[in-house]
Amino acid sequence: MGNVIEMQPLDVDRLSVRKPMPKAKFDPLAREIFTLKKQLNAVILAHNYQVPEIQDVADYVGDSLGLSQQAATTKADVIVFCGVHFMAETAKILNPGKIVILPDKDAGCSLEESCPADKLAEFQKTNPNFWTIAYINCSADVKALSDVICTSGNAVKIVEAAPKDKDLLFVPDENLGAWVMEQTGRPMTLWRGNCYAHVEFRREALLRLKDKFPKAKVVVHPESLREVRELADAICSTEKMISYCKSSPDKQFIVVTESGIIHRMQKQCPDKEFICAPVYDVMKMPTDSCRCSECKYMKMNTLQKVRELSCRSISLNERGCPSRGCWRSRRAE
Ligand code: SF4
Repeated sequence: MGNVIEMQPLDVDRLSVRKPMPKAKFDPLAREIFTLKKQLNAVILAHNYQVPEIQDVADYVGDSLGLSQQAATTKADVIVFCGVHFMAETAKILNPGKIVILPDKDAGCSLEESCPADKLAEFQKTNPNFWTIAYINCSADVKALSDVICTSGNAVKIVEAAPKDKDLLFVPDENLGAWVMEQTGRPMTLWRGNCYAHVEFRREALLRLKDKFPKAKVVVHPESLREVRELADAICSTEKMISYCKSSPDKQFIVVTESGIIHRMQKQCPDKEFICAPVYDVMKMPTDSCRCSECKYMKMNTLQKVRELSCRSISLNERGCPSRGCWRSRRAE
């Protein structure tokens, strides 16, 4: 079975993971996407939480910070952004002249939804000394109201560098904000938003899993609840989770974040074992038999939608785009 973890009985918390696919073995749909990509001069960026088949066709797979950096420096004309709405929006802000494709326009985010810009503007008026730090998981309107944007990978550094004479307001994730406060000792006012997927992890279930796998190191995303973070050997962004697991001499890891990341972890560390932490089930009852920690928004993107949207982009390309200032109009000038 090589580096593929076998499907386990329901009471064991493991996921099956595909072996990385050699290029020659890509299915016809993936090969069609490679052809479209060439035609469009496109780059495919995929978040760590995307389904394996999207990660396998992407030019770059990473976290919000890495994806933004790729979007900022790409020479491609078209960015196919396989992630959620605020990520594609950020890529568009960084590349106003390029076409940015989000495979499913309804791929939102509970954190983004929790912080409407008008509510934030109203709250900011209650303290003129507020200095607003926005976690990147928010709308462009909220970013525009903020003094600085951070990701989970650099939030601690950003807060440490914030002006000392200001009252810090951290939006929209109260759990990430609380973790940053613990790290920096800097008090902040926290917006009451959360990631619906990460707050589903529970301490008791994780303790039971640690009992089953006593040698496993526990890596936790800071969007998780404090009761879960307290059990972690490492708390980090998805990108740092991967480097932590790669450089660690340990062979077994309990992963407390969205399960899509396991695919990349297994590709990069084929000799190691990754175990998904269990989440509550839809009835909100504690359970160890449901281990599918999936973000419903991230999973809206499919390979079929990547192909479909890329095709539509080509036909728009051929007709010419009416929007002034777009890269095609400028090229035609
Ligand atoms: S995992 Fe959470 S923070 Fe990430 S896109 Fe889904 S809802 Fe938003």
